Amino acid sequence: MKKISLYIHVPFCKKKCSYCDFVSYENVEENLIDQYFQALYEEIRAYRTLLNGNYTVETIFIGGGTPNFVAVEYIEKLMQVLFDSFEVEKDAEITMEANPNGHSNKEEMLRYKKAGINRLSLGLQSADDALLKEIGRSHCFQDFQDAFAAARQAGFDNVNIDLIFGFFGQDRKAFEDTVQYVVQTQCEHVSAYSLKLGEETPLYETYMEQGIDVEEEDWEDREMYRYVCRELEENGYEQYELSNFAKKGYLCKHNTNYWDTKEYIGFGVAAHSYKDHARFFNTSDLEQYLEDIKRNASAIEEIEQLNLQKRKEEFIIMGLRKTKGFEVDDYTRRFGSDFFADYEKETAYLIEAKLIETDKKNVWLTEEGKDFANIAMMEFITEINY
Ligand code: SF4
Repeated sequence: MKKISLYIHVPFCKKKCSYCDFVSYENVEENLIDQYFQALYEEIRAYRTLLNGNYTVETIFIGGGTPNFVAVEYIEKLMQVLFDSFEVEKDAEITMEANPNGHSNKEEMLRYKKAGINRLSLGLQSADDALLKEIGRSHCFQDFQDAFAAARQAGFDNVNIDLIFGFFGQDRKAFEDTVQYVVQTQCEHVSAYSLKLGEETPLYETYMEQGIDVEEEDWEDREMYRYVCRELEENGYEQYELSNFAKKGYLCKHNTNYWDTKEYIGFGVAAHSYKDHARFFNTSDLEQYLEDIKRNASAIEEIEQLNLQKRKEEFIIMGLRKTKGFEVDDYTRRFGSDFFADYEKETAYLIEAKLIETDKKNVWLTEEGKDFANIAMMEFITEINY
C-alpha cells in the first residue's frame, strides 16, 4: 500500500496578526465555526473510498489559523472522523498547531493527547512582549510559557516552537534572548522563519506609509538567521531544512514529505493537495467552501496537472530546501534522465557562483546559497512553464 499525508486547515484566529496573509478569520460566530467543522467532516468522509485499500496515512497535520482557538470538542471529533475514515498508521505523526491564546491549559492539552495528537507546534514567534504587541499577536510571553508547561505536563514529548524574525527595527538583543529561551526549553524542534511580508497585509501598508522598502535586501535579517542557525546547532539541533531544526530523531515527517514531493491531501478552505502528479486547490472563500461541500462534498476549484518538466523543477526546488539537498539517483529514478545532463548549464553557473555544491550523489545549497536561495532556485525554472 502507498503512504499519504493529510493536512487539515482550521481558518479561525482570536485576532488577525498584522503580518499574516494566511487564510484565517477573526471574530467569527460560533455558528459559523460549527458549520465549518460539519463541512470538514463531510469532505473528509468523501475521501474514504478513494484512499482506503490503497493508502495508509503516515502523517496528519492540523494547521491554521489557530486550531486550538475552536472548542476542543471540534478537534476531538475531527480526530475521530479521521480515524474512522482512513487507515492511520499506528506510529503516524499527528501534529496540531496551537497558539498560547487558545485552549492550552493542562486539561485541554490532555484532551488533545487523548484524541490522538502526538506532536504540538506552538507559536511563540518572540519572547519580546513589545514586539508581540507591535505585530498584533494576542498573547504575551508568559502565556506561551504557561502553554508550553501545560503541554509538557500533559505528556507531549514532541514539541515544535515557531519563531519569526526580520521585522523592521527588530531589537537584536531581544531576538537573541528569544533564541536562548527556546534552547533552554529543550523543545524537540524549532521552526525559525524569516518574515516574508505579503502586499495585502496591514503591516506592509504601515511600512509603505513609513517609507520602508520591504523589497530591499535586509542584512539584519540575515545576521539574525545566522545567529539562530549557529546557536541551535551548538545546542544539539540539526538544521535539516532552510528554516527547520530538530533534535536527533525529531525531524518533522509531515513537512519532510512536502520537501520530498510526496503525495498529500488537504482538507478545508484554501487547502491544497498533491496526488497522481496533479495539484488540487480548494476554494479560498469560506462561504463558497461551505456551499461547495453542501452541494457535492468537494470544494476543489482548480486542478493543475504537472508535466514532466514541472515535476523536475518542483523536485529540485523542494529538494534544495533540505540541508542535504536532493539525491541525484532519486532524480534519475523518478524522471528517467540524468540531472547533470538535464541541467548542465545551470549547475555549472551555480557552482561557479558558490551557491550550490555537489559530491555527485547529492546537490545542496552552500551557506551563501541559503542567503540567496530564491535566486539559486529560480535558475532551475524555465520561463515556458511559469
Ligand atoms: S495566529 Fe497565525 S494564522 Fe492566526 S492571524 Fe496570527 S499569524 Fe495568522
